[in-house]
Amino acid sequence: MDWKRLGKSGNVEDRRGIPGGGLAIGGGAGLILLIISLLFGGNPGDVLNQINGNSNQQQSKPQNDEAFQFGQAIISGTNEYWGKVFQKSGRTYHEPTLALFSGGTSTGCGNATSASGPFYCPNDQKIYIDPSFFNDLATRFGAKGDFAAAYVIAHEVGHHVQDELGIMDQVQASGDRQGANSASVKLELQADCFAGVWGNYLATMKDPIVTSSELNQGRTAAQSVGDDRLQEQSRGYANPETFTHGSSAQRDHWFSVGAKTGDANQCNTFE
Ligand SMILES: [Zn+2]
Repeated sequence: MDWKRLGKSGNVEDRRGIPGGGLAIGGGAGLILLIISLLFGGNPGDVLNQINGNSNQQQSKPQNDEAFQFGQAIISGTNEYWGKVFQKSGRTYHEPTLALFSGGTSTGCGNATSASGPFYCPNDQKIYIDPSFFNDLATRFGAKGDFAAAYVIAHEVGHHVQDELGIMDQVQASGDRQGANSASVKLELQADCFAGVWGNYLATMKDPIVTSSELNQGRTAAQSVGDDRLQEQSRGYANPETFTHGSSAQRDHWFSVGAKTGDANQCNTFE
């Protein structure tokens, strides 16, 4: 995968190596500041901004290492693709931000740790990833290669696309969070399909950035994070009633639908 040709997005935050893991001031300290402000006639809004802006102020200089550059490239490449797709239907694609962290960080969806795995937060439209996950993917889950890692980011970008299209709100409103046929699983499978669609775009361009065998790294990665496989690994058996992301076979299937067709309209996992 010739990812360096994907360009460099400026929408990548590097929160790694921040003391305290980049967690914002706890509620206690914030509350004290707010009370002081109210007592002394300051503008509470200013204090709230200070509290909320805290993690930004702590932001360390980007390490500009390979993980950071890779993130810049994948965000740039997905921006280019989804920007075009949205434009064709008269919409505007608002670029998401990728936030790299180590250990833990504060997000618009609450505090996160590396244990929660990569995720997308619709409240601040940011994708959160501890790049150590990519090592786990290669070693623990057996999904090696740059496109396996690219699939992970592209899947989270897929959630951002859903957010932009209003699909995420509809699913959240349904409150249907678990089970092999739940709306939550369908949302995850659609994000896999969107990642596959983008893979197809990279593999079918005039001077392909991804070869067809590299595209298969995405399939392997999608299979490796199936609910059944993860549950079997951790407790020895799988219970479809508690699935949240879909089985390995489902994830492989929907990634492949996207990768084969290159058409996001084929990603209707809700049908
Ligand atoms: Zn997901």
